[in-house]
Amino acid sequence: MKLERNIHDFLLRVGKIMSPKMNMSIYKGEYLCACSQKHLYPTDIKTDFDLNSLSGLHSMIMQNDISMMDTKVLAEGRMLVIFQCPKDPRYITAVKIKQSFLKFKGFKTICGYKLDNEEEILAFSHMINKLR
Ligand SMILES: [Zn+2]
Repeated sequence: MKLERNIHDFLLRVGKIMSPKMNMSIYKGEYLCACSQKHLYPTDIKTDFDLNSLSGLHSMIMQNDISMMDTKVLAEGRMLVIFQCPKDPRYITAVKIKQSFLKFKGFKTICGYKLDNEEEILAFSHMINKLR
C-alpha cells in the first residue's frame, strides 16, 4: 500500500483525533495494515508460512513457533481508529469503521505511515499520550 510521505500528511488525512474511548469489542475483522500485510483485529496470529499449508501450521504448533499478536488502538476519530501494527510498531494505519444500519460492515484502510526514526517515534507517542 502507498504510505503518506510524512506524519503531517498522515494526520491531515486522519483529521481530528482523540484518545480511544469507543467500545471496540463489537468490531472484529481483517484490515490492510501500513506494513502492507493484512491483520486480524483484535488478535492476529504470527505466521511466516502459507496459511493454506496445514502441515506448515501443524509443525509450527509443534515447535511452539506460533504466537498471538494484538493490534493496539492508538487513537480514534470520527468512525475511524489508528491502529499500530502488531508485527512492527513503526507502522500506523488509519482505518475507517464501516457501518450500515448500525451493523458493522468491516474495516477500510484510509492511509498509513511508517515512523522512520527514533525521534519521530518519540514525538508521535508523546502526541498520542497528550490526546484527550
Ligand atoms: Zn502490519
